[in-house]
Amino acid sequence: MSDDSLQRMETEGEMTNGSLRSSKIALFSYFKRCYERHYAANSKLYSRSTIALGRLKRTASGRDAWDMYVWYALAERLARLGFDAEWMNAHIEPRCPQCSGRLKYEQLACDEIIGICGTDCTDDRSDRLEEIRETVADLYSRAFAEESGEQLSADDLVRL
Ligand SMILES: [Zn+2]
Repeated sequence: MSDDSLQRMETEGEMTNGSLRSSKIALFSYFKRCYERHYAANSKLYSRSTIALGRLKRTASGRDAWDMYVWYALAERLARLGFDAEWMNAHIEPRCPQCSGRLKYEQLACDEIIGICGTDCTDDRSDRLEEIRETVADLYSRAFAEESGEQLSADDLVRL
């Protein structure tokens, strides 16, 4: 099996297996396992990630608690703390916020990429990536504003 298809299987199997929400421990162990496929273990990164995940999981409720939002907000947090978080994008697939279906991507004339629900479940061809960015920015701000004073909007995200 190629590394690529193995990676896809892992993404689908671990993060979205039936439930869209994983426990903090499950998310951290997925994080650690993915990281160690790219780099050597890093205890400083792991301790910051555990703290960040704890805050995110305590803050998130309802749909915000979907793994994809927590994962992107964690990537944002780590990038802003100066860690490399680019590798994290390879281990999550953005899903439609309404039906959790797969997205189809389209490139607009201005080179911007938008993600449309594969079944266009709300029948309006809206950009789901923008919706995801807004939820991630909101979750991030609620989880970390107190400590960092950062109130992010969708356009501020460096990792999504
Ligand atoms: Zn949908």
